[in-house]
Amino acid sequence: MELQHATIHTFTTRPWSIDQCIEGYARHGFGGISVWREHIVGEDLSHVKKKMHDAGLQATSLVRGGFFTGDTAEKRKAAIEENKRAIAEAEALGIPMIVLVCGATPGQIPSDNFLQIENGIEEILPFAEAAGIRLAVEPLHPMYAGDRSAVCSMKDANDLVERMGHPLLGVALDVFHVWWELNLYEEIERCFDESRLFAFHVCDFKPEMSHVLLDRGLPGEGVANVTVIDEWVRSAGFAGHTEVEIFSEKYWAMDQDEFLKKIATSLRPLRNPAVD
Ligand code: ZN
Repeated sequence: MELQHATIHTFTTRPWSIDQCIEGYARHGFGGISVWREHIVGEDLSHVKKKMHDAGLQATSLVRGGFFTGDTAEKRKAAIEENKRAIAEAEALGIPMIVLVCGATPGQIPSDNFLQIENGIEEILPFAEAAGIRLAVEPLHPMYAGDRSAVCSMKDANDLVERMGHPLLGVALDVFHVWWELNLYEEIERCFDESRLFAFHVCDFKPEMSHVLLDRGLPGEGVANVTVIDEWVRSAGFAGHTEVEIFSEKYWAMDQDEFLKKIATSLRPLRNPAVD
């Protein structure tokens, strides 16, 4: 694929500041940036917005909102407030979409977590609506079901967004999390047919990962069959950017310009948006 159709998540180059991310992605020819909230703490958001614009980068998504669950009403209310802050940040940065990692609280059963997530999304939707910001529910791999997300598959995410039926609510597909689903192809088509496929994230799943969170691979390094899923997503008609989201202590330890070159090479077998 051509790099102008690729977005890099700032967490992918975690050692860099937001300014270094913007300059670096543009320098390497990437077309977009997804901003992690960690990267803009204490930053002047209008400056960041202008800098992204001047660098010619598409601001694809703000990462992340969600974490709606909690074992007390106070905790769940605090989560709503945090999501409202995320919506305000996205608006200030001119970013049209927020990725939701929906949450799971240890000690609660999955169906209770799921219900709290639905209630949380319901509460923030009016604020997203007022700001015109889309919300993309990202299902996480079931190994995170106990403490990060009770939404664990494309099927879960599709069920949730279908039931809620709001035009600003869709799904972010990350190959790391959903590659294992037997009916993934059907779930991708289901999602796209309902105009609810909002985002496509790539990296790879290494079966012998050294860390449950921080040892993700470049596309092609693992077992997620990234080129196959990419083919399914593109042939369904998804026209958005391919977003590169790699958490890796191994790659963060290297020169980040060299890492971006490796990323560029790893994206070559993937398709561009539209028919190519
Ligand atoms: Zn992701």
